[in-house]
Amino acid sequence: METISTLSNYINGKWLVSHTTHELEVFNPALGKVIAKVPLSTSSEVDEAVQAASEAFITWRRTPATERVQYLFTLKNLLQENCEDLARTITTECGKTLAESKGEMQRAIENVEVACGIPMMMQGTISEDIARGIDEMMIRQPLGVCAVICPFNFPGMIPFWFLPYAIACGNTYIVKPSEKVPLTMQKIFQLIEKTGLPKGVINLVNGAKEVVDAILDHPQIRGISFVGSTPVAKYIYSRGATNGKRVQCQGGAKNPIIILPDADMEMTTRIAADSAFGCAGQRCLAASLAVTVGEAKRTFTEAITETAKKRVVGNGLDEGVEMGPVISADSQARIEALIYKGASEGAKLLVDGRRPQISGYKNGYFVRPTILQDVNPIGEIAKTEIFGPVLSLIHLDTIDEAISLVNSGQYGNMACLFTNSGSAARKFRYEAEAGNIGINIGVAAPMAFFPFSGWKESFFGDLHGQGTHAVEFFTQTKVVVERWRHDWGRQF
Ligand code: NAD
Repeated sequence: METISTLSNYINGKWLVSHTTHELEVFNPALGKVIAKVPLSTSSEVDEAVQAASEAFITWRRTPATERVQYLFTLKNLLQENCEDLARTITTECGKTLAESKGEMQRAIENVEVACGIPMMMQGTISEDIARGIDEMMIRQPLGVCAVICPFNFPGMIPFWFLPYAIACGNTYIVKPSEKVPLTMQKIFQLIEKTGLPKGVINLVNGAKEVVDAILDHPQIRGISFVGSTPVAKYIYSRGATNGKRVQCQGGAKNPIIILPDADMEMTTRIAADSAFGCAGQRCLAASLAVTVGEAKRTFTEAITETAKKRVVGNGLDEGVEMGPVISADSQARIEALIYKGASEGAKLLVDGRRPQISGYKNGYFVRPTILQDVNPIGEIAKTEIFGPVLSLIHLDTIDEAISLVNSGQYGNMACLFTNSGSAARKFRYEAEAGNIGINIGVAAPMAFFPFSGWKESFFGDLHGQGTHAVEFFTQTKVVVERWRHDWGRQF
């Protein structure tokens, strides 16, 4: 019989078996089969990681930034060399296609590349002679020990929205992967180990709520980054902030796209389908509501229905597959229940993706692309994050009505417009209440040198992940004013 191994933590430069007696099974969602076990580590293991990171911080912050980023150059090369293997691991535990997993790793690598520029990005400023012989300067210093708590849908990329910036700025770090997809970080930490980073600079603690709560309450942790669902984001933001920590929390989403009658319908349909069904709809930037305006209703509805039916669904490792399974049996059941709810609220089920027969994968957690038409704009299906391959169609008469609908939602992660009109595009960009806007394009994760924006209940905090926001998040400013004799030149 195949033995299923339990994953380890990586603390203070060592692979450690957790002391816990609790563990969870990790599944391959295409096969519905257990592939590993993840320990639900304890608060004392979080403390062990924090003590190691605190000790490492003393010398790491004194290591010149130019020297710190040398480890990132090495890590970038290791990630690149092992990209194929990492991508296969992502697909195996998360379900997305191999091409999607490779794209994810590429985005992770790009964040390492951007963080290599931190010697310049964390420069301070100085004003000489604010009064005679007096200079004032602002310097940036690291916070100390920081941590990231991750969701399941991008096990390779999301930790990299934060981790490379954190350590390049001189902080030390703890990663808590999603307990549903812990294998990718296990492999990435094997590469981190090969970089020769001093022990304790980056630590890995597997687990779930007990680990999260220990991170939130640990007095030596100074900064916390979270990505996941909105209810958990709110909890982490408030508990972390109450404990005096710097906290940034990216939450859930319900992303609308508006299609005007003058849009290039062939391109719009292709992009809308990729946005709604890519990663089986399990992206915080996935299109979930398509709002057609005027004449766009008929053409878009026909085209997207055909496209949805043709999507090739299967094991993401298999050649030609365009969409993999969803993450778990629970997720599959939740998505199916929401499809049922939409239909019971009066929507027409144009394409029903529930319980498909996928040849060779009868135990996999599959939901095929699903299209609901004439969805009630104030019904549950139009408001709830489905996080599955379900696109709800709503029809309105004007762009003003469509923008009002976009802005009425609780979330503000992404909104897109498809049009040939420059003035409609400008109006939309100006008025839409979302942190990531697409015009004639589905929004992918922003490039690493832009912040990953997000508004309303899609984000709690101030500074976002990636780019210069990450540098600001992972440093604290110190303003120094100095007086020196201004006639110093005459003394020598
Ligand atoms: P989740 O909120 O269930 O879990 C995220 C993390 O929080 C996990 O590490 C988990 O262990 C921990 N957690 C879960 N419940 C907890 C609790 N009660 N107390 C303490 N910790 C807890 O999210 P998920 O299902 O893994 O990921 C999907 C969600 O993430 C979706 O809502 C999606 O929109 C969101 N997401 C957002 C972004 C973004 O950039 N805004 C990106 C990716 C995913």
